[in-house]
Amino acid sequence: MKAPDFEYIKVTSLEEAFEQLAHHGESGQILAGGQSLMAMLNLRLAAPGCLIDIGGVPGLREIRRDGETIRVGALVTHRQLEESAEIAASVPLLAQAAPHVAHLAIRNAGTVGGSLALADPAAEYPAVAVALGATIVVQGAAGVRRIAAADFFEGFYRTARQPQEILVGVEFPVQRSGERAHFSELARRRGDYAMVGLAAVLGFDRNIVSRVRLAFLAVGDRPVLAVNAMAALQGRAPDAEAVRAAQDALARDLDPSADLQADPATKMHLARVLLGRAVAQLRQPQ
Ligand SMILES: Cc1cc2nc3c(=O)[nH]c(=O)nc-3n(C[C@H](O)[C@H](O)[C@H](O)COP(=O)(O)OP(=O)(O)OC[C@H]3O[C@@H](n4cnc5c(N)ncnc54)[C@H](O)[C@@H]3O)c2cc1C
Repeated sequence: MKAPDFEYIKVTSLEEAFEQLAHHGESGQILAGGQSLMAMLNLRLAAPGCLIDIGGVPGLREIRRDGETIRVGALVTHRQLEESAEIAASVPLLAQAAPHVAHLAIRNAGTVGGSLALADPAAEYPAVAVALGATIVVQGAAGVRRIAAADFFEGFYRTARQPQEILVGVEFPVQRSGERAHFSELARRRGDYAMVGLAAVLGFDRNIVSRVRLAFLAVGDRPVLAVNAMAALQGRAPDAEAVRAAQDALARDLDPSADLQADPATKMHLARVLLGRAVAQLRQPQ
């Protein structure tokens, strides 16, 4: 199938993009890497009157450290993240997640901002952002808003971004000393969307878990922070008993629906497997 007719405008500044968004109203839609949007157009799942291409807007392609924060511009590609020494050193969970996004050709063009704005519940970065307590930065004609990742994802492909706002970047805290990160997912084939995925961070004080963040993807309408499983690990040695308690607690955290990848029982089983593997990996000295 071919895309319906649409107007195309390539803007060169955020101000111009805001003007175009205001001018076109509901029929205007931002185009970034096009790796999701063009497919949606071709499948006739979206029919915007005008695509507003922000690919030429300067200043949105940077990865920058600012104290204990790493700022990632909206147009940074998946591949850029994968190859960034700064991301590998400072936000290893994100570095581990990036290669799981689709295939290389898609990672070369697809952007962080596009992935977060789309808010596919099976996407990697929303779960990473929630696990790390990242801040999503959106901007409109009225100014900038900073939204905690946990509040940004509101449901199935739904976010707190207003239609007239552009997602301009995301801020990740630098990994603290004593913390370890582990991203893993199970997919039918490498590059496919995950059946289930887990973004995990554990902090240790000697052998005791002093901080724990577990965000699952592809188990709900948005990334799910497994608060009961986290409580089961917090303050304990990460031994087999604690892991089993955390796995059992997942029954209270997750209520997955069936999707094209797996049924709910399979997803629950895989979530338990991923949790066990993550703790086993993270309790090893690195
Ligand atoms: C075969 C295939 C497999 C894939 N597998 C995965 C996968 O495993 N994991 C995964 O996470 N993704 C996957 N993707 C999606 C891919 O990662 C996309 O690159 C990403 O989701 C969207 O980024 P983009 O820059 O291409 O956005 P676009 O396609 O340009 O836009 C996507 C949506 O976000 C909006 N948007 C884009 N940027 C902004 C912005 N800065 N501000 C406001 N709105 C914006 C657009 O209006 C549109 O609604 C896959 C895609 C394909 C085609």
